[in-house]
Amino acid sequence: MAIVKAISLLGSTGSIGTQTLDIVASHPDQFRVVALAAGSNVELLAQQVRQFRPERVAICDVSKLPDLREAIADITPQPTLLAGEEGIVEIARTPEADVVVTGIVGCAGLLPTIAAIKAGKDIALANKETLIAGGPVVLPLIQEHGIKLLPADSEHSAIFQCLQGVPAGGLRRILLTASGGAFRDLPVEKLAQVTVADALKHPNWSMGRKITIDSATLMNKGLEVIEAHYLFGLDYDHIDIVIHPQSIIHSLIEVQDTSMLAQLGWADMRLPLLYALSYPERIYTNWEPLDLVKVGTLTFREPDHQKYPCMKLAYAAGRAAGCMPAVLNAANEQAVALFLDEKIAFLDIPRLIEQTCDRYHSQNRSNPDLEEILAADKWARQQVTSLSQTSAATVVTR
Ligand code: MG
Repeated sequence: MAIVKAISLLGSTGSIGTQTLDIVASHPDQFRVVALAAGSNVELLAQQVRQFRPERVAICDVSKLPDLREAIADITPQPTLLAGEEGIVEIARTPEADVVVTGIVGCAGLLPTIAAIKAGKDIALANKETLIAGGPVVLPLIQEHGIKLLPADSEHSAIFQCLQGVPAGGLRRILLTASGGAFRDLPVEKLAQVTVADALKHPNWSMGRKITIDSATLMNKGLEVIEAHYLFGLDYDHIDIVIHPQSIIHSLIEVQDTSMLAQLGWADMRLPLLYALSYPERIYTNWEPLDLVKVGTLTFREPDHQKYPCMKLAYAAGRAAGCMPAVLNAANEQAVALFLDEKIAFLDIPRLIEQTCDRYHSQNRSNPDLEEILAADKWARQQVTSLSQTSAATVVTR
């Protein structure tokens, strides 16, 4: 296949970043890396620079720039070195890049993604928070600049793949599948006692820490509902969640005549990433094909909203629209960070998010601009922190 796509990769040392680079390394005739940005992992970033020889490199943690410079001093030609948030934004608008992979965790991905869209880059969206918080600003920009937003989240990639060949107006309902996360078989009364280590054990997918906690609370699925609303334009009454513990069907669509289409595969993030990069082409891989006989059984069950209140919080924030999804997302990011630091208990996560969204309700406005979204994000983080100091439950550690 004769595509060569030039990739700018944001978050190169994280889970999405390293898997993207695996794909590039296995398909050198199709992809090349022109720019890399990472948070603070100098050692791995330097290795990546050595292997992929990008033209531009950025590290978000400015204090690490001298270390990075030293670690790659012997490489010729030297890439352009950048640092800080502005450095990440420069990586996002690298002139040579065709597509920007946004593997940065959380709302920190928003400004670089906006910069990439304005520079006319296609986006392989591996950072759902960008669209959830920034939807009201990001969607009009995509229209204006005529770029493609290619989902790399496994569920949204599945929906996107199922939609190929479905005419406009043909889509009737989206069914997002959820593994059920680390605590799917734990009785609800045990949830108050779970530790960070317990929550980080995902049954099916290997992912970063933040998203693994989001999977354990099922907020990840709630965020994906909002992401699906923005990506595919259905209202919230037509986006449903079903628990599918095997994670073989990555999501489904129902079309107007009630036919259902599904996308299946092993739980491997590289597949949706590859399709986001190769779209609309299909690239041959030597990955293990799905073996239905080996899988044997696929099962489905209703999500438990009593046990996992985060899904309903996300639906409510999505329906409230305006800045509320940004508030929900920021409150969640802050609560998850506090949980990972063992400052709050697992069940404090949904409680703090709900209290924060309730407090924001009267201020919410439709059609916010970027400044209002960023202000709402900041406000929500502060709320969660101050609420946690007055009311957090006893933290369980082992
Ligand atoms: Mg997902």
